[in-house]
Amino acid sequence: MSEAYDDAVDAITGALRDADTAVALTGAGVSTASGIPSFRGEDGIWERRDPTDFHRRRLDADPEGFWRDRLELRAEFFGDVDPTPNAAHLALAELESRGHLDAVVTQNVDGLHDEAGSERVVELHGTNRRVRCDDCGNRLPADAAFERAADGDLPPRCACGGIYRPDVVLFGESLSDVAMSEAQRLARDSDVFLAVGSSLSVRPASLLPKIAADSEATLVVVNFEETPRDSAADHVIRADVTDVLPAVVDRL
Ligand code: ZN
Repeated sequence: MSEAYDDAVDAITGALRDADTAVALTGAGVSTASGIPSFRGEDGIWERRDPTDFHRRRLDADPEGFWRDRLELRAEFFGDVDPTPNAAHLALAELESRGHLDAVVTQNVDGLHDEAGSERVVELHGTNRRVRCDDCGNRLPADAAFERAADGDLPPRCACGGIYRPDVVLFGESLSDVAMSEAQRLARDSDVFLAVGSSLSVRPASLLPKIAADSEATLVVVNFEETPRDSAADHVIRADVTDVLPAVVDRL
C-alpha cells in the first residue's frame, strides 16, 4: 500500500479524533531516536554481547558474575548517554493528555514513556529503571543498586536477603501474565491501533496488531522497514516516528 505522507497523517488524525479507544504499541524505533542502541538486529547489543551471560540461569548460578556483566553492559552502552524522551515519546504523552490516546504498550525497557509524561504505560518487558528483589518483589530505582554494585556490593541484596535483579524479563523468563493480558485487552478494545517503531516480528508485539485488526480497529503501522503486519494495516507510513507523531499532534 502506498499513500502520500500527508494524506496518511490526515487519515490517522481523523481516525484518532473519531476513536473511543486508541492504543499505541512502541518498539525499538521509538528509543533509537533517544540514542538508545537496539538490542536485536544488525549492530544490536546482542550481536556484540553474549545473551547467555544475561540469562535467568546465569543469575541463579552466578549472581555475582551476572551483576558484573550487567555493570559492564550498562557502562558500554549507556555510560555516556543520559537518554531523554524524544519527540515521539512527547507526542504520545500529549495525545494521551488531550484525550486521544488511552494507553501505550511498549516493548522498550528504558522507561522513557513514563519520563515523557505518559500515564498509562504497559511495559511488556519490564523496565531497566528499576530493580526488584527476586524473593520478596521489593522494587528500587536501578541507579541505587548499580551504585552499590559498582562499589563492590555484589550482588546487591534486599533487606530480606534476596538478590536484586533488573526489573525486566530476562532470557529464559516469561512475560508477565498481567502485562500480557492488559495489552491484549487494550488491543481488542481499540478503535485505532498505532504500531510505531516496531518490526512486529517478535511475540507478543507481532500478535497485538492482529488482535486489533481482527477486532475491526483501524490499524496504522509507522516503521522504516516493512513489517509482517503491513498487509493487514489500513495505513502504512515509512517515515521517522519523531516526524510522524508530532505531525499528528499538530493537526489534531
Ligand atoms: Zn526482598
